[in-house]
Amino acid sequence: MASARMDRRQFLASLGGAVAAGVTAAVLGRDARAGQADKPNVVIIFTDDQGYQDLGCFGSPQIRTPHVDRMAAEGMKFTDFYVAAPVCSPSRAALLTGCYPIRTGVTAVLFPPQKGGLSLEKRTLAEILKPLGYATACIGKWHLGTGTQAVGGLPQHAEFMPTSRGFDMYFGIPYSNDMKPCPVVRGTEVIEEPAKQDTLTQRYTEEAVRFIRANKDRPFFLYLPHTMPHVPLAAGETFRDKSPRGLYGDVIEEIDASTGAILKTLRDLGLDDRTLVVFTSDNGPWLSKGKNGGCAKPLRDGKFSTYEGGFRMPTVMRWPGRIPAGSVCREMVLSMDLVPTVAGLAGATLPTGYDLDGRDVRPVLEGRPGAKTPHEAFFYYKGNRLEAVRSGTWKLIVFEGAEKGQPRGTMELYDLATDIGEEKNVADAHPDVVQRLTALAVAGVARVGGNLGRAGKKK
Ligand code: MG
Repeated sequence: MASARMDRRQFLASLGGAVAAGVTAAVLGRDARAGQADKPNVVIIFTDDQGYQDLGCFGSPQIRTPHVDRMAAEGMKFTDFYVAAPVCSPSRAALLTGCYPIRTGVTAVLFPPQKGGLSLEKRTLAEILKPLGYATACIGKWHLGTGTQAVGGLPQHAEFMPTSRGFDMYFGIPYSNDMKPCPVVRGTEVIEEPAKQDTLTQRYTEEAVRFIRANKDRPFFLYLPHTMPHVPLAAGETFRDKSPRGLYGDVIEEIDASTGAILKTLRDLGLDDRTLVVFTSDNGPWLSKGKNGGCAKPLRDGKFSTYEGGFRMPTVMRWPGRIPAGSVCREMVLSMDLVPTVAGLAGATLPTGYDLDGRDVRPVLEGRPGAKTPHEAFFYYKGNRLEAVRSGTWKLIVFEGAEKGQPRGTMELYDLATDIGEEKNVADAHPDVVQRLTALAVAGVARVGGNLGRAGKKK
């Protein structure tokens, strides 16, 4: 046995080594965390046909959404957040690519069986993040195409499915829940048909929580496009017959609980300060469904419409330490902004070879003083038609022929600052504004594509 003195020296050396090793581990750990902080986790919760008023924090008188409300209290509420289409598929195409739908090959709702889908020339947010080491998952309703074979066919033909578009895993229904045969798919394989819809939200939530837990030590992107509250509505047993707003309320309250479960998972895993969570909807409420549809009050109209109810979504974002708690953003922010904004946060390279219509809105998100929308104009496209344009607080409904000064319909101008419900057409009082916004719409069509204006009466 070595002497006590040697032992003491060895002891001190080993102690020093241990301290050094500890310091090194601490530094490495800090560096690793700092590296992760450079690559924040991103969770996008995207509901289907939820109206502007259908959250507690957006004024719903009956639907209880304590988890999303708390998310708003801990983050930022967006009063002027726009999707790029008033229907499902093109809205999703724009969200995931940062481009107006007309650039993505998806301007209308896709129906099965379908051969087309989101243009393979465009890169999805998942494809943009993957090279940086992100784990990626799509859980829910895809609706951006399946493949040249029906879903359940050979995987090599499923070129439009999520697993071919940058997502490591997919679980959900590949299109709307009112379309047949409505399978549940894992990857590209049908595992259930038709889908048992009353347990879908619960199963999505379990898959989402499992994905977050499995990837807690690396950056991840979770895209969670809920099937609900698109009709036919279905809620889990725990939530059924609970809301004073009926089944629609039950469905929203279940989505709220799902959001709560995801936020709790992030909190339990210590991921709060490096995770951006976005909650929004794909388009306005399906008003013709009556009590089974949502509510866009105080906005005009809903799904299918280029009035505000079709495009303006109840939106909340949360990232403790980065997004100021309890803040409200009244600037115009677009779903298309998420691609360049998240790419900017992650340090990802944006696609080359085509234009993005979204802009990096980090200054707005971070609540920097004086931060403004980067958009001079937003274009409300319905299919291939640019039907309306917003610039500042002014919004103009445009008709074809307007570029020649001969619109085939009565142009409508609204000041959204004083008339959020688009009730009072003030076009006659502001010909200069009509002229300026018409010019923006003409330039928009020239830049983005499509046809100018609502179809008017043929002469
Ligand atoms: Mg929808």
